Amino acid sequence: MFRSKLQNFSNYSTPVFEYIVKADANENLLDYPEDLEVLITDVLKKNVRNLCFYPEINSQPLKQELAKFYGLKEENFIIGNGSDQIIQLIIQAACDKDDFIFTLYPSFAMYKITAELFDVNHSFLDITQNWEINADEVIEKISQNDKIKVIFIDTPNNPTGVALEYEKLKLIAESFPERLIVIDNAYGEYCDINYLDLALQEKNVILLKTFSKIGFAGIRCGYAIANEKVIENLHKVKPPYNVNILSQQIAISLLRNLDKLKSNIDLIKSERVRMTKCLEDFYFVLPSQANFISIVDDEIDYIFDYLKSKKILVKKFDIGMKKLLRITLGKPKDNDIILESLINYKRGK
Ligand SMILES: *Cc1c(COP(=O)(O)O)cnc(C)c1O
Repeated sequence: MFRSKLQNFSNYSTPVFEYIVKADANENLLDYPEDLEVLITDVLKKNVRNLCFYPEINSQPLKQELAKFYGLKEENFIIGNGSDQIIQLIIQAACDKDDFIFTLYPSFAMYKITAELFDVNHSFLDITQNWEINADEVIEKISQNDKIKVIFIDTPNNPTGVALEYEKLKLIAESFPERLIVIDNAYGEYCDINYLDLALQEKNVILLKTFSKIGFAGIRCGYAIANEKVIENLHKVKPPYNVNILSQQIAISLLRNLDKLKSNIDLIKSERVRMTKCLEDFYFVLPSQANFISIVDDEIDYIFDYLKSKKILVKKFDIGMKKLLRITLGKPKDNDIILESLINYKRGK
């Protein structure tokens, strides 16, 4: 009854157990400032009466707000049911069966999973040697394959947290004017580098953003910024009414009140500095620009199990010969629990 490839296909999944600290999914779990919580409650109340209607077919109200926020035109935006959906739209719009996408390895899992579902192949560059992204190597690898139609670069990268310098990304984008470059900036609010100008200057660049990593993963809302022609083509494959009314209205309210989230974002950034400093004496910690830190260690399986025994939920990655543990930063008291366990592990309890 089903496509034969589904027999061995594994969709995105993530193990969950009973926890006291949740640090596995890069959510921002800090409490909302009280005034923001009030605003959002108001939005929900006001829109109860609107639930009988379909939302605007292409999320026009949210696009209007984004246009204002960025000083751009509505035609520069497409809204997705999470940026996950936009990743799918990009692959559907740009790739025929047997074309390729290009990603870093490791990188966000959904690029490869989505490509596979659409019978699109996957080419990648291994960055596990020193966890840095070498633009020349990226360019050489892509140059060898005409069938690569979309280049996905998550920066800061998930799961390493490492960000690619602006100039290097510009070089990559300019090397392939006939292919789409997706700058997945899911962790942009935690990063010092701003890539927006690249999306405005280069006709082949798409900047992907989401509300998920700044405290609103539950509304499933992401968006892309790009040249009008690119956006127009993405709309051709977008399902109608893809973002519900409540999510749109919350997103609009967030854009108008983004300053109210600044303290939560700043706290995570300072926790990143603190946690990195404390762990560096015991572990190899990657230089993260995101809301998580990742450690590389041969004993990751044991460390994961040790944390599990303490009811701490983190995410582990097997990447070729290397193993990595990704720890989402949260409330200082929760970070302290993780810190203590990680240090105890190395000290032999
Ligand atoms: C979390 C994440 C996403 C998914 O974002 P949603 O808007 O929740 O779908 C996309 N890209 C990267 C790199 C991520 O880490």
